[in-house]
Amino acid sequence: MRVFKFGGASVRDAENVKNVCRVLQTVGYKDSLIVASAMGKTTNALEVVVHNYFQNRFDLAESVEVVKKYHFDIVNELFTDKEHQVFVRLKELFDSITYFLLNNKSPNYNFVYDQIVSYGEIISTTILHFYLQECGITNKWIDARNALKTDTVYRDANVNWDITVENIKREINTDDLCITQGFIGSDYNGFSTTLGREGSDYSAAIFAYALEAQSVTIWKDVPGVLNADPRYFEDTTLLQHISYQEAIELAFYGASVIHPKTLQPLRQKEIPLYVKSFLNPTLAGTNVSKGAPLTPQVPCFIVKKNQLLISLSSKDFSFIMEQNISDIFKLFCEYNIKVNVIQNSAISFSVCVEDKFNHFEDLRLRLVNDYKVSYNENVSLYTVRHFDNNSAERILTGKTLLLKQVNRETMQIVTKE
Ligand code: ASP
Ligand code: MG
Repeated sequence: MRVFKFGGASVRDAENVKNVCRVLQTVGYKDSLIVASAMGKTTNALEVVVHNYFQNRFDLAESVEVVKKYHFDIVNELFTDKEHQVFVRLKELFDSITYFLLNNKSPNYNFVYDQIVSYGEIISTTILHFYLQECGITNKWIDARNALKTDTVYRDANVNWDITVENIKREINTDDLCITQGFIGSDYNGFSTTLGREGSDYSAAIFAYALEAQSVTIWKDVPGVLNADPRYFEDTTLLQHISYQEAIELAFYGASVIHPKTLQPLRQKEIPLYVKSFLNPTLAGTNVSKGAPLTPQVPCFIVKKNQLLISLSSKDFSFIMEQNISDIFKLFCEYNIKVNVIQNSAISFSVCVEDKFNHFEDLRLRLVNDYKVSYNENVSLYTVRHFDNNSAERILTGKTLLLKQVNRETMQIVTKE
C-alpha cells in the first residue's frame, strides 16, 4: 500500500484536479490510498464562516456562499453533465452546513469550528472521488471520521492510536484505490474533530502507520524539500536524501514543507517519505528514510518571520535564577506563547517568541511587576542547520543582528530587517 497526500494547492482549481488524475496515471494507483486536503484556501474561508457565526451574523450567509460558489465553479468546469451525482451530493453537503449553523446550540467556539471547518476536506474528497471515477480511476470514498478517533480537544485533537489503527485496518481492506480526508477525525460521540492547521500530512502518516504502508508521498508545488525557503533565499538546493532525525529537526525549527508531527509515526515503522512535485511526478524529489547520510550536503536555512524578542532584567540588579526562569516560563505557557530561543546572562533573560494569539500585551502587564521589560516586535528568527563560514553573512547582509546563538549543529540568529 502506498499513501499519497495531496495538499490544498494540488487541488486548488479544476486544472489542478485534472492534474491529480495525470499524476495517478503516471505513477500508478493500485493498492494506494489518497489523503487529500481542502481545496486551495477553503480552510481559511471556513474559518471566516465560524468567525461570522459568533461575531458577525450579518455576513454569515454571504461567507458560506463564497465557499459554495468556489466549489461549484470547480465542479461546473470538471463535469459537463449537469445531471451528474456530484452536484446533488455537493448540494447536500452545503445544506448540512446551513442546517448545522441554524440548529447548533453549542457556544463552544472550537467545537463549532471543527464541525464547520471539517467540511473543507469532505467536499474536496467528494469532488475528487467523482472526478477520478469519470477519468476511469475507480476508487472508494472513505470517511476518515469513521477511522481516525480522537479526544475532544477541538482544533488540536489527539489521536487515540489503538482504536484508530484497528478502524483503519477495517475500513481500508481492498486492493482498489481509496480516497479519504486529511486533517479530520471524530471524537467518541461522533462529532468531527481536527488535528490542527496543516494537519493533513499528519493524517497521511497515521494512515500509513496503521496500514504499514510501503511509502508516503506528499505531492507539492515545489520539487521537494529545499535547503532554504525560495521566498527568502536565492540559490536553493534540493535535499535528495535526508534522515528522519534531520527532517524532524528541520520541521521543528519551522521548515514548512512537512508538518512536524508527521515524521514520528513514519520513523517508528521505518516507512519512507517522499516529497515530490505534482507538476513533475517522475522526478525523484526528496526521500526521507533510514540510511540517509547523517548530515545533509549543504547548510539548511529556516526562517520564522513575525517574531517577538523580549528581554527581561531584574529591577534591582539581582540575578535571574532558576526560580525566576521557572515563573517566567509558566507565564508563557499560560498565555500560549511559543518560545523559540532562550538566552540568559546574570541579570537578564532574552527570549524569541511567537505570539500567535496576540497575548503579549496581557503577559507584559504581568511581567512588569517584577522585571524591566524591553522588546522588539516583528523580528525574524533564522535557524541554520549544519552552518558553514558563510552562513551568518548570508543572513545578515542588510539586516541588524539582535541575538545569535550557536551550538555544534545549529546556529540561530534574530534580526531586524
Ligand atoms: N485544510 C487544512 C488546513 O488548511 C489541513 C491541511 O491542509 O493540511 O490547515
Ligand atoms: Mg495545506
